[in-house]
Amino acid sequence: MVASGNPKSLNDLAPTNGRADHGGFSMIYPVNDQNYGENVLGCDDAEWRTRVDLAAAYRLCHRYGFSEGVNNHLTAEVPGQKDRFLVFPFGLLWNEVTASNLLLVDLDGNVLKGEGQPEATAFWIHSRIHQLRPNTGAVFHTHQPEITSLACLEDFELPMIHQNSLRFYNDVAYDTYDGLVLDKSEGDRLAKALGDKRILIHRNHGIMVCAETVAEAFDAVYYLEQAARITVKAMSTGRPLKIVPAAVAKQFKDTLRGTGAEVEYGRVLLEALKRDMLRGPEKDFIT
Ligand SMILES: [Zn+2]
Repeated sequence: MVASGNPKSLNDLAPTNGRADHGGFSMIYPVNDQNYGENVLGCDDAEWRTRVDLAAAYRLCHRYGFSEGVNNHLTAEVPGQKDRFLVFPFGLLWNEVTASNLLLVDLDGNVLKGEGQPEATAFWIHSRIHQLRPNTGAVFHTHQPEITSLACLEDFELPMIHQNSLRFYNDVAYDTYDGLVLDKSEGDRLAKALGDKRILIHRNHGIMVCAETVAEAFDAVYYLEQAARITVKAMSTGRPLKIVPAAVAKQFKDTLRGTGAEVEYGRVLLEALKRDMLRGPEKDFIT
């Protein structure tokens, strides 16, 4: 069975012939199919779709070098279910994650579905952030190298020097490293440090991204790494950075989020990369 379409399809936002008007510019979506494969668990559609997208995110983060051994974690809520979330079982490499081997766990750490256990920090931190942030359906924590290298600089704040950086204008919180904490207090502390931002740069450690959907969270980690890569290259010249004026950066960010374009770009990107995986050796992510 191939499940296609989505409760909010791309065409819902496209008045005519796949064109969507986002505040003065239009986008054309060449492909409107969304492939969720066969729901081999027989769970409800919303859970299966979240599983497929989250498994795709693990594989893609691995592909782009954002994973680190068997550590770090990406989690997602099934829409409408705040008392449980999906996470990979500890011990798998990220390129071994599939839609069906993800664990469904509750907020007390009980595994409701699947074999294995979540890693301890994955559970303690992510469970609290899912619980404490009402508009967060996906929480990604990585040590992806470009932005993490910048997080190891004294007093670093992401400079607004490129269009990719502007995606994160006024949307990044910074936190100091306090060592390894294996209880819920660390999740509470990180949620407080995040405040109303979507991105946390965890100094001497890595990043955390909180977004409404898996697609939005993946879009953020992807473009944050792109912005960081450009920043590292620009800083490596030793020349002064050319900072985009705050008013211009704000206009860019407000337009991208206010029109809904950022959300749509994220969905289109994830679907495109899922199609790419389905053509190659990573196609079992959807099983
Ligand atoms: Zn970490």
